[in-house]
Amino acid sequence: ALTTGIVGLPNVGKSTLFNAITQAGAEAANYPFCTIDPNVGIVEVPDRRLQKLTELVQPKKTVPTAFEFTDIAGIVKGASKGEGLGNKFLSHIRQVDAILHVVRCFEDENVTHVAGTVDPIADIETINLELILADMETVDKRIGRAEKLAKQKDKQAAIEFEALSKIKKAFENELPARSVELNEEEEKMIHGLHLLTIKPVLYAANVSEEGLLDGGENEYVQKVREYAKAENAEVIVICAKIESEIAELDGDERQAFLEEIGIEEAGLDQLIRASYSLLGLATYFTAGVQEVRAWTFRRGTKAPQAAGIIHTDFERGFIRAEVVSYDDLVEAGSMAAAKEKGKVRLEGKEYVVQDGDVIHFRFNV
Ligand code: GDP
Repeated sequence: ALTTGIVGLPNVGKSTLFNAITQAGAEAANYPFCTIDPNVGIVEVPDRRLQKLTELVQPKKTVPTAFEFTDIAGIVKGASKGEGLGNKFLSHIRQVDAILHVVRCFEDENVTHVAGTVDPIADIETINLELILADMETVDKRIGRAEKLAKQKDKQAAIEFEALSKIKKAFENELPARSVELNEEEEKMIHGLHLLTIKPVLYAANVSEEGLLDGGENEYVQKVREYAKAENAEVIVICAKIESEIAELDGDERQAFLEEIGIEEAGLDQLIRASYSLLGLATYFTAGVQEVRAWTFRRGTKAPQAAGIIHTDFERGFIRAEVVSYDDLVEAGSMAAAKEKGKVRLEGKEYVVQDGDVIHFRFNV
């Protein structure tokens, strides 16, 4: 499964946030594709459409789709024998699909700041510089050879050299690889390098309880927003402490608490949603009387591979997919009515699944 790794300097609120994630956590047993590991938190992806489908179909049970967060600090702490901490840290970042960078944007005399003062940009730069230096080493190992081959009129190498040169220049300006505009061919050529700074990043500006209730836009947050904009990254404002309190509440209590403090959506839900879109993920549904269920797929996935997410047999024996869009189904009011109106399509192997598709797969066993 795809995972977002949580990073940040010490004392910025990572553990508090990760605790909120595991508290809110979904039963791992329901999600055979998720990793079972104390450093991985599995959360359900909030989706209002699932409620609506449940009302329509009245199934025996409803299962949301899930998403993983990995606590990189936790792994690093537990595995620091032998190899240096720095290398462990980098190798774990290499394995995640996106990065959630927690930044301290709250003041609290009782919580020591590692650098002595609250300065979110300095904090971000401390970590980003380490990642840039690691990537610079990777690029330096390749660029000489690419240049040599490019001079010998190797077309692929010329593309690679061009891409690496642009990236190197960004590094020299202390900018990450994700800030560099690359065309499709260039992207392909450098994909195999698995650069750390090319991974999508979401900055979580961790504000105080009072800060969040004031709308969350303090001067620290503003600075993080400006910084993120320059490198094509996104920002979410959270209060890790409040999130850990919200995570202990269930359904109705949770709603009441959010209304009481005047917040529309829990920060954690926003985080999940943002990570989801950052990774180019989308949701399709299966809707039978036994079970209504949401499934995560990568945008661009074709029907047989989407079926394979449910079970490998579904992909191997794929015949057709009966597809109706969520909107059409809800408008029709029932699957039967949607069929009558001609809204249910039969799609084949080349069909690219869309977000919100309600699908019934037909397959040979
Ligand atoms: P980590 O080292 O990044 O994992 O940071 P922790 O989650 O352990 O948090 C460090 C300290 O900051 C703890 O004492 C937390 O209670 C406190 N803290 C974390 N988030 C917040 C917050 O949103 N507001 C306030 N006031 N304190 C927080």
